Amino acid sequence: MSSCPPARQLVEAVESETMSPELDDHIELCSACRAMLSSLREESEGLTISVGDLWVKERISCPHRDILLSYVNEALTPAEMDFITFHLNVVECPYCQADTTELADLLSQESARNLEDSVDRSLRRSAAVLSENRRSN
Ligand SMILES: [Zn+2]
Ligand SMILES: [Zn+2]
Repeated sequence: MSSCPPARQLVEAVESETMSPELDDHIELCSACRAMLSSLREESEGLTISVGDLWVKERISCPHRDILLSYVNEALTPAEMDFITFHLNVVECPYCQADTTELADLLSQESARNLEDSVDRSLRRSAAVLSENRRSN
């Protein structure tokens, strides 16, 4: 049996109502994908919301912690920032909300510490320069 296609591919198949022959073959043989596909079909029926949105709402696509960290750092592309904002504020995913709060806390502690460090380092550096000067004089 070929390996399972990414879940996204099943969602797309349901949304577009087209099935590639490879996917069709796989589903013939794979009961896990068959079950997933039929539950996706059920969910999509009678709902105006797209299955893709549902996917997000169902929190199946929680962003990775690294992504959340970049989000807290505002280091994502605008589209990615939007996606995470949506996930946090519209979907109100409690897991990711807790994660970003924690990461933001960590980060502020971290930057406070970095600030102390750099102050410390520059003091040390000027002390070194002073003693250097003293020695050469
Ligand atoms: Zn499968
Ligand atoms: Zn989440």
